[in-house]
Amino acid sequence: AKPLLELERITVDFLKEEGPVTALSELSLQVFPGETLCLVGESGSGKTLASKTAMRLVEYENGRISRGNIWLGEQDISTWSQERMRTVRGRRAAMIFQEPMSAFDPVFTVGQQLVEAILQHGEKTAKEAWRHAVHLLGRVGIPEPELRMKMYPGELSGGMLQRAMIAMALSCSPELLIADEPTTALDVTVQAQILHLLQELKEEYGMAILLVTHDLGVAAEMADRVAVMYAGRIVEEAPAAELFERPLHPYTRGLLASVARAGLPRGTRLPSIEGSIPSLTAPPAGCRFHPRCPQAVPQCTQSEPPLAGYEGGRRAACWLAEEPGNPESPGGGWQA
Ligand code: SF4
Repeated sequence: AKPLLELERITVDFLKEEGPVTALSELSLQVFPGETLCLVGESGSGKTLASKTAMRLVEYENGRISRGNIWLGEQDISTWSQERMRTVRGRRAAMIFQEPMSAFDPVFTVGQQLVEAILQHGEKTAKEAWRHAVHLLGRVGIPEPELRMKMYPGELSGGMLQRAMIAMALSCSPELLIADEPTTALDVTVQAQILHLLQELKEEYGMAILLVTHDLGVAAEMADRVAVMYAGRIVEEAPAAELFERPLHPYTRGLLASVARAGLPRGTRLPSIEGSIPSLTAPPAGCRFHPRCPQAVPQCTQSEPPLAGYEGGRRAACWLAEEPGNPESPGGGWQA
């Protein structure tokens, strides 16, 4: 199948006082129709930035896409005007965020905003749009939807508002939902419900989901595939089961090492690996992970490992990564 969304060797720079900072370098990523791809990494890894870049939102934060292409289906949207991008955002691709309030204007009711979104994108009459909005609120699990339509965003609880934001995202039946830490601010029970809802909606709408999370438990539960980011690059990508069972990259192994193998309950935050993510102003030469890597060899400080392909559609950027079947290779067995 062809990817629905593809970032192809994307480089994003920010102009800072001290000079340009490359926040994403040569990042390649594909999301296929109907799948959930989880983008994981420590904070500062660039995962949120990657998701914003996919929708060309980095430019609102003074980021510049200096190289690469962004394919949405057959179209390269990397050079589109922001005006033209508005025909894509919320239509073919919708976004939900950690903070649902950011999706709403506090001075209009939830219903007004939903109806407006539906009217903007579809050919529905005002009456049909209203009915559809009520249906969507009900579908995302909001009780008494007619009543909530008339409420202001500030009058809804956090979990309820999160559901309303999902309803907003669904208003135009997007092919792709980009969700950036959508449940991080919620308590565990509500979080579980929202994740379950996203799974259901994915099936029902046949959507693909690009889910950005720092929570390995969420990734283990939701992902078909996982991409691990480190210092603005993807260091490993694999089908979820394989990645958790047999990580190829020392960074992924580090992330998983202190997590019980038997299961990854939600709330499993990325454990800390000794050291910290390098500054992107002056990233380490060679492999960016080498200052923290227990397996580093001299070559690692000199040249950067490419993101190479391995058996089973896996990719890893490590000089020592080998075929996953080899028990002698660093990726060959679980090392806790
Ligand atoms: Fe570690 Fe070297 Fe692999 Fe980088 S390339 S992850 S430093 S072994």
